[in-house]
Amino acid sequence: VKRWQQAGGKLHAVDAPHPPMPGDEFRALCGDRVSPNRDDYDVINRGALRPTCWDCERVWREIEHMEPIDYEVSR
Ligand SMILES: [Zn+2]
Repeated sequence: VKRWQQAGGKLHAVDAPHPPMPGDEFRALCGDRVSPNRDDYDVINRGALRPTCWDCERVWREIEHMEPIDYEVSR
């Protein structure tokens, strides 16, 4: 399951069965190893998100385009 998770000052994407918990290190789609802290979750609740990690965005889209259903939709 892919989801966005703010950590390390950016909004990264992660492919994991469960959302990362504060303090958990995870490998973002872009390859960065980051760990969200409490503040990252507080910021999300306040609606003040960090800049999107565009490397994650690109990798996410590459993954999606390999899936036949999404390929059909994109045409
Ligand atoms: Zn990233």
